[in-house]
Amino acid sequence: MVERRPDYYPQFRCLVGSCPDTCCRDWSVAPDEAALADYAAAPSPLRERIAQNLVTDEDGDVCFRLDERGMCTLLTPDGLCALQRDWGAAHLCAHCAAYPRFTEEFGCLTETALAVSCPEAARLLLEAPRFALIEKNDGIDDPPFDGVDPGLLAGLERSRAQVLALLDGGGGSIWEKLNALLGQAKTLETSIFAGECRRDYPFPPPPIPDLFRASAVWLLELFAELEPLRPDWPELLKERAKRLAALSPADYAALRASYGQSSPHWERQLANLACYFVFRHWHKAVNDDALYGRAAFVCAACLVLYHLALFQPGEEAALWTRFSREVEHDENNLGELIWVLSEPDALPPPLTF
Ligand code: SF4
Repeated sequence: MVERRPDYYPQFRCLVGSCPDTCCRDWSVAPDEAALADYAAAPSPLRERIAQNLVTDEDGDVCFRLDERGMCTLLTPDGLCALQRDWGAAHLCAHCAAYPRFTEEFGCLTETALAVSCPEAARLLLEAPRFALIEKNDGIDDPPFDGVDPGLLAGLERSRAQVLALLDGGGGSIWEKLNALLGQAKTLETSIFAGECRRDYPFPPPPIPDLFRASAVWLLELFAELEPLRPDWPELLKERAKRLAALSPADYAALRASYGQSSPHWERQLANLACYFVFRHWHKAVNDDALYGRAAFVCAACLVLYHLALFQPGEEAALWTRFSREVEHDENNLGELIWVLSEPDALPPPLTF
């Protein structure tokens, strides 16, 4: 069995009370059965407090209650979880204990990423000199899980290694590399999966001739249509799309030049982000063959986050965190984007293939 994770993984430490956000906000966390059974044995008065702060959601799942600000009601004013503070981290439910670590298992392969929805994980990725993986192999040749096509997984392994090397290596701009990533994914999806092209989706032509900027405007508007976690997110996207579209070509060029000066490492940072998305999402095509849509999602995410950062230089990690919470962690939003972006013409040149 092979195990992989980013090389900055061991550096992660939760910021606890100093976190600029918190993982206890807006998400309804459903404790697992073992945790619920454990809570029944909690010392009093914590046991009563936990019981008072569990609710049943519309799907019938038992979740921690959120207050009117969207905060978990077990969160104390010092930013600590009452359950962890008063009883110990060993009693956290599996979800809270694992976050921001997300593990994908394929039987022969286990990979763990640090989700950039956590501000500290985003900072580590942003500041990493490059995106590198550490790998352990116990020498045991486990088979893939039932339902995982071994040939397909092997093909995804090979192609992802090439794509990560392409994004991480020198030569060419980040946009050229992302364009090459799309080309790779298209070739693979066609040759390996014989994937269908979803040409029935109505795509509006970009409204202005500057296709690179038009793609960003169109994507900002597209992302703003998704179901928001926090209402100010789509407002921000719409406002940025409007400002971006209104810039003269000279002002747009000046904004990009100014960003390049104030954030000289932006291209390395964006390459790290693209590698993170590829690491987390590429192999999921083993379940549905939608590789091109995932590659296009990586490009779209980079294009959107670059253009948001133009207006907020120095706030890249915070933008990545917001984006990940709104898009990456919402299965419906992510699935819809992958579907929409599976259309080969969804991203106009230079981000198309
Ligand atoms: S979001 Fe990350 S740093 Fe913040 S409290 Fe959660 S795990 Fe800790």
